[in-house]
Amino acid sequence: MLGRQGAGKGTQCIRLSRHFVVPHISTGDMLRAAVREGTELGKMAKAVIDSGSLVGDDIMVGIITERLDQDDARVRGYILDGFPRTVAQAVSLDAVAAKRPIDMVIDLDVPRDLVLSRLSARRMCRDCAANYQATGNESQPWTCENCGGDVVQRDDDTPEAINRRLDLYESQTQPLIDFYGSTGRLVTVDGVGAPDEVFERLTRAVEQRR
Ligand code: ADP
Repeated sequence: MLGRQGAGKGTQCIRLSRHFVVPHISTGDMLRAAVREGTELGKMAKAVIDSGSLVGDDIMVGIITERLDQDDARVRGYILDGFPRTVAQAVSLDAVAAKRPIDMVIDLDVPRDLVLSRLSARRMCRDCAANYQATGNESQPWTCENCGGDVVQRDDDTPEAINRRLDLYESQTQPLIDFYGSTGRLVTVDGVGAPDEVFERLTRAVEQRR
């Protein structure tokens, strides 16, 4: 699924993966897990993520190649969240997934000014990555209703990093709309509305394609 940061992409991808019973593969979650675990990848990626820049294509393609080779991704398909983010990643993905080609790409469309306000209120569970919107009335410390983990603001949700990510989305990721559109794989779904309403549009779009 493509879409600006803060479009609700992560939450909707998790819901879709439960609904269709397929794995949710989020490169952002994988990178954050590596940062938490202090692996070599995590140490290298931390500064890049916090500044709102993109981790290099070769590294990302390596991570996703390894993940798509695991058993759960080879059975009933999967939902990719946050990958690909560049045309080079998309070209590599088509090669990696050649045996089970990527058949559908959703662009969850939310205008930039709307995602800016959503991102400043975004909070995330440190353990299960569930997303929340802060209202200011939460009791502190805030615990996740799914798993009891700490709900916090992400280190990369500063105004500078948010703007950099949105600029990079326009220059690096938006070209994917033409890339997938020209091969008939793109479906644009309006991401403005209540989460349940948007989820309904998404499931309808997937079902129409199946
Ligand atoms: P958001 O939830 O804001 O859409 P993600 O959680 O998907 O962002 O990703 C967080 C950060 O991880 C990105 O800003 C980027 O630094 C890095 N990242 C995640 N996926 C990719 C990718 N496919 N290519 C390059 N960098 C990535």
